[in-house]
Amino acid sequence: MRKPELLIPAGNLEKLRTAILYGADAVYTGVEGLSLRTGSAEMNIEDLAQGVKEAHANGVRIYAAVNTFARNTDLDQAKIIIPLLSTIGIDAAIVSEPGMLKIIKNSAPQLPIHLSTQANTTNIEAVRFWRDQGVRRIILARELTLKEVGDIAKAVPDMESEFFIHGAMCMAYSGRCYLSAFRNRRSANEGDCSQPCRWEYFLYESTRPNDPLILEEDERYSYLLSSKDLCLIEYLPEILASGVTGLKIEGRMKSAYYVAVVTRTYRQALNALIRQQEKYQFQEAWIDELTKISNRGYTTGFAFAEEKITETNPDIKYIQTHEPAGIVLNYDGIQKRITLDVKNRIKIGDRLEILLPEEIVPIEINSMTDCNGNNISEAHSGSEIYIPYEYEIPIGALVRQQITPPS
Ligand code: SF4
Repeated sequence: MRKPELLIPAGNLEKLRTAILYGADAVYTGVEGLSLRTGSAEMNIEDLAQGVKEAHANGVRIYAAVNTFARNTDLDQAKIIIPLLSTIGIDAAIVSEPGMLKIIKNSAPQLPIHLSTQANTTNIEAVRFWRDQGVRRIILARELTLKEVGDIAKAVPDMESEFFIHGAMCMAYSGRCYLSAFRNRRSANEGDCSQPCRWEYFLYESTRPNDPLILEEDERYSYLLSSKDLCLIEYLPEILASGVTGLKIEGRMKSAYYVAVVTRTYRQALNALIRQQEKYQFQEAWIDELTKISNRGYTTGFAFAEEKITETNPDIKYIQTHEPAGIVLNYDGIQKRITLDVKNRIKIGDRLEILLPEEIVPIEINSMTDCNGNNISEAHSGSEIYIPYEYEIPIGALVRQQITPPS
């Protein structure tokens, strides 16, 4: 069976290291000032160079998104930055439009070009067109069905393709939407969507502001524009059979905890599928694991239904059973203790879980010390603490805690 590439979002070096630890084949990240994401999800050239070193040392490819819809004023900066991407060893640049493509061809012709999903490539002739322009890989529009994806892979076998298998969906076609810019001046088209389609809205008559017309989907609330999140982990055999090259996870703005859980879970499922082939069986535990990160309920999106708008979700407020407790900064094998970068409050008596690539191990907090060696009863986000632990834990491992009782 062909081994697909599991492609993980890495908005910064911490997330890149998390993706590597938990089994990414490739990571993608924004380039400061030239990607369709804001500062929290893009790296400067220095961080990218460090990211390339660490990714390549672990056999992981790294792609840089320069997929802004460039304006004339962006071009000079692009002409400076793009050759640097090639110099530091980026494996491919992701573009959205012909201007950036032309700059790459002129200034860094050896840099492979991937076409962003923002280019809305939906058919075989469009794929051939981009191939003839020098594009090596197309990130297909997530509005396509899996059958259409397979038809494209068969018809244009010399073009690599990526298909989104997990992450947030959008009520607008591939994120081309002004709702966020309209509501609070954060433009989705500049990578800064505040997701107002997920908000709760009421309808008022102007002279009766205290008498809203309630549009009720159920007894709790109504979210008229919000979509469930995409999750195709149950359909990996069908996706691999379609011939796509890369299985892409959405979420450059998401947390390291999200990166850890999604990477680890899809890695396990893909490894099982490749190893077991016809004997492969889907495990419910993988879905259970994916409910432990923030989500709005899961859908298969457009994968099996043409022009199907993903459903609004009656349980639409974010569902999340666990939250990150911290990230392991170091393991001291002599003193037998973990140094933890605390992400959420931890107190004595808490029962946490350490996410390892292959297993999840419980840990009960019976004692902890601050960085001055003082015993403490609780620790807060942003602090570094020591926790006694007998066995070696890899740097970068995520530690989490349950925030709701198991159902
Ligand atoms: S506001 Fe909603 S529909 Fe518009 S771009 Fe953002 S996520 Fe998509």
